[in-house]
Amino acid sequence: MAQQDDTPRPRDADRVVGAPGAAETGGDEPHDARVVVWDTPAAIECGKRFAVRLGVACSAGCRTAGWVVEVRDDAGGKRAAATLGDDPWPGTDALCHAEVALVAPDVEGLHTWTAAALTDRPAAAHTGGRARIGVRVVSAPACLLTVVATDAESRNPVAGARVVAHPYRAVTDDRGVAELRVAAGEYRLFVSGKSYIPFRFDGAVKADTTIRAELAHDRELSDADIWS
Ligand SMILES: [Zn+2]
Repeated sequence: MAQQDDTPRPRDADRVVGAPGAAETGGDEPHDARVVVWDTPAAIECGKRFAVRLGVACSAGCRTAGWVVEVRDDAGGKRAAATLGDDPWPGTDALCHAEVALVAPDVEGLHTWTAAALTDRPAAAHTGGRARIGVRVVSAPACLLTVVATDAESRNPVAGARVVAHPYRAVTDDRGVAELRVAAGEYRLFVSGKSYIPFRFDGAVKADTTIRAELAHDRELSDADIWS
């Protein structure tokens, strides 16, 4: 589960008003059922398990506990179904919800899946609510990227330098070495150390790779400059 501040507050929930049960009296207009999805991971490795949280809010405030939400993939294949629990999401009146376990496809890229509320079961007529789920699939880290940071002048190792190759990061050890396990791909890598000009590498990493980062000192007045 993502941290609380990562959790987008389901906006639809703010609009859910009215007493539970009011829906049963019915009316000519079908209620508007809205599906909300949150806690979707930013990226998932091929074939790995992940989970999202699904909720359904009704425009007329029906309690959506017990409703079933189905998740289907881009091809329309059913991936999972979840039955919403009894307790509304904290801070909402009637947004019942459930976590649903899923398995990422084996194909990299952004897949657009759909979560749809099955609306044949509730008593009152509801428009079919659905929401999209963006499933970003990445390949598993397969390459060892080794960064060796040295001082361009003294040739000594630079310890404590920060290495960033989004989304991976590491810090060099006493030998000036940092190791990152990354998925094959194109990277922009930065190595930065205190009082050094950041080193940058742009390129493809397709196998185990070693990058030698010679760090040049940031131009700074030395003691000699000051006292001369
Ligand atoms: Zn309703």
